[in-house]
Amino acid sequence: MEGHQKKDYLDPDASVAHRVEDLLSKMTLEEKVGQMSQYVGLFHLKKSAALNTPIDLMADDANAFYPGLSGKDLYDLIKAGKIGSFLHVLSAKEANELQKAAQQTRLKIPLLIGIDAIHGNALYEGATVYPTPLSLASTWDTDLIKRVAQQTAKEMRATGSHWAFSPNVDVARDPRWGRVGETFGEDPYLVGAMGVAMVEGLQGEDFSSPDNVLACIKHFVAGSEPVNGLNASPMDVSERTLREIYFPPYQKTIDAGAFTAMAAHNDINGDPCHGSKYLLTDILRGEMGFDGFVVSDWMDIERLKTVHRVVDSQKEACYLTVDAGMDMHMHGPDFLEPVMELVNEGRLKEERIDQSVRKILEAKFRLGLFEDPFVNEDKISESIHTSAHTSMALEAARKSIVLLKNENVLPLSTDKVKSIFITGPNAGNHTLMGDWSFEQPEDNITTVHEGFELVKPQGIDLNYYNMGKQVIEITDQHIAEAVSRSKNHDVIVVVVGSNSLRYESKLKTNGENVARDNLDLVGKQQQLVEALHKTGKPLVVVLVNGRPLGVEWIAENVPAVIEAWEPGSAGGQAIAEVIFGQVNPSGKLPITIPRNVGQVPSYYNHKRAHYVKKYKWSKTGALYPFGYGLSYSKFTYGDPVLSKAEIAAGDVVKVSVEVTNTSSLEGEEVVQVYISDLYSSVTRPMKELKAFERISLAPGETRKVTFELDEEAFAFYNLDMKRMIEAGEFLVSTGSSSANEDLKSAKLIIQ
Ligand code: BGC
Repeated sequence: MEGHQKKDYLDPDASVAHRVEDLLSKMTLEEKVGQMSQYVGLFHLKKSAALNTPIDLMADDANAFYPGLSGKDLYDLIKAGKIGSFLHVLSAKEANELQKAAQQTRLKIPLLIGIDAIHGNALYEGATVYPTPLSLASTWDTDLIKRVAQQTAKEMRATGSHWAFSPNVDVARDPRWGRVGETFGEDPYLVGAMGVAMVEGLQGEDFSSPDNVLACIKHFVAGSEPVNGLNASPMDVSERTLREIYFPPYQKTIDAGAFTAMAAHNDINGDPCHGSKYLLTDILRGEMGFDGFVVSDWMDIERLKTVHRVVDSQKEACYLTVDAGMDMHMHGPDFLEPVMELVNEGRLKEERIDQSVRKILEAKFRLGLFEDPFVNEDKISESIHTSAHTSMALEAARKSIVLLKNENVLPLSTDKVKSIFITGPNAGNHTLMGDWSFEQPEDNITTVHEGFELVKPQGIDLNYYNMGKQVIEITDQHIAEAVSRSKNHDVIVVVVGSNSLRYESKLKTNGENVARDNLDLVGKQQQLVEALHKTGKPLVVVLVNGRPLGVEWIAENVPAVIEAWEPGSAGGQAIAEVIFGQVNPSGKLPITIPRNVGQVPSYYNHKRAHYVKKYKWSKTGALYPFGYGLSYSKFTYGDPVLSKAEIAAGDVVKVSVEVTNTSSLEGEEVVQVYISDLYSSVTRPMKELKAFERISLAPGETRKVTFELDEEAFAFYNLDMKRMIEAGEFLVSTGSSSANEDLKSAKLIIQ
């Protein structure tokens, strides 16, 4: 008897599998469905100015999202075991209060708390804000991404969250879509590699350490190329494109152990992802081997009825989604009761509910929440925004900045420049922090202007004109004033771009639900740049923006252009260091910058016929190609050398290339490997990234870099959608970007 009791689910020495089964056997149906129910943090959005200001959690209006429910009602739901998870709990104090309520339930099941920590735990006040995912992808440094994710996990656990809604492994193929900055760009291989690094960093070995969290791969699937660029709009996409472009990052991150996945808002070929058994069960679990749990996206179960209209009631929406393979309902009421009814009526089997609950409980056990669900509020500062973390944010920002153009302007040095004029809306604001961050203490953020003040060499005079801090608020007067103030300076730096900050919702020009039908600089920013260019002084344009913008005029007229994306709270320093040459730029574009919106899609891995014809009155093709980015060093590439010129299908071939730094400056370079299938039974992309490595080269140094290409590199889906390798000729190309002029090739024959 005693032995039996010892093997209770509360016994930490029992195996996780045993604990799960023991607990499940003791749960009522209501308690089970409660585990599948997630609510939003109690004072979410109530406090954007001072996030951690203590408030009365039990106040009647404590949660803006549930007007009919008072704070007390929500606590009562927790205590009754009707809530298993929360999202966006933005203070540790609140997290502890919620967990205390969960401890009062019959079975004392702790709450699982999720948050959109996609580049640091940036919704949390005082957390380290790393560069956004698109910026992180520009580093092409998987080890760095992993370390950023490890630190993010640590900051989350210290503040009460256990589950990051990250990585976003959507392949971004339409820059009109506002969420491009949340992604790792346009290439399935790069997105997969970055996603794996993120999952490994967040989850650690098996997320059982107190410093690790659950990762969530999202949004399954293909919402990143919506028909009109608008978030959540339908996707008509072939099975081929799904398998070649959208599925691979999911497969890789699942293989890396991603324990949760989120369904996508959109429908695919008439089948809403949230109700799709084909996607959530057959593909995700069946084909890809996903073995965790799936959470819905915000209100998307409801949208099966209200938007997609594939069902006519919330109860049918619940049926469709759970039957399809959904395990957790994000955001509140209208789930528990209908699902219980469906089980009681025999339409959903209780075993189906058990499947979901098993995985949710497994996560809670493995995370150690049954042993200790609380955080030590007095020790938070020991784990968040530490000097180790802020230096990593700075390192990531430095490596992410992409130098697009430099005609003998940069770096600015004292021998050439005595005085600099800096202006532009994004020179003095916090837009560097990007989407999914809330307000952070002023002192934690270095704006671009502050970065200049911090690192400018002695002997350089700096004049800053703060023209207002919003990209959409620039006026003709600001422009005239900027031109007049720039007069007595040697160089002008203008910082323009977009604003993705969700706490400035009316001023946002980028981010979730901010689609664009053009890619121009919003407001009068273009006029500002042109007016400053007209002064005839050397001009440096710094873009702080969350998606590729159509900056064709700038690229053709301005001598120095930097794509800084959204480099996080240390970004201002990193930008200034690059401009003054204290940091040698090394970022490479993870996404094509198109010439203009009309040329979208402009991704590099297009089919051969994509550009057989040209646009009549404009240059056709990318403005800046995928993989592109300049350095102050100069690198030259030898020809790629293959270990064998002919291989059998399935064999591994090695490709080596010598890279030399022919300049007198140490620098970092991302060596890229692409393959092209010259003739094949189905049309194939012109080229596809298959390997890359970031290397550092001393002045004059030559390094031989060797990559292995296995069968995956050459396989594709044939007309019967079978993955196979076809005999024939391939080009294996190595170089510094995806552009033909930056690549050298060797021919490989597969017998
Ligand atoms: C987004 C998700 C996010 C969720 C929770 C949704 O609007 O699509 O990516 O994780 O909100 O904040």
